[in-house]
Amino acid sequence: MLDSIHNFKIIAPCDACDTQGVVSDRHPNDPASRDKTCDECEGSGHSEYYELYDSKVDAWADYPEALDIIPI
Ligand SMILES: [Zn+2]
Repeated sequence: MLDSIHNFKIIAPCDACDTQGVVSDRHPNDPASRDKTCDECEGSGHSEYYELYDSKVDAWADYPEALDIIPI
């Protein structure tokens, strides 16, 4: 049934910075490397996705690493 589909906001850890919000601009072993704000999450440490699912359980199944899943 179409009316059973809901929009969810998924908050997932940022893979690019491992939720730190900063990344090294070079290889971390390079003594000249500096931390810079993560481009992927703009320093928040997490990414947000908007997806349609039948239920919250289905959303969690797709994003088992999510920090939170919020019906919107
Ligand atoms: Zn990030």
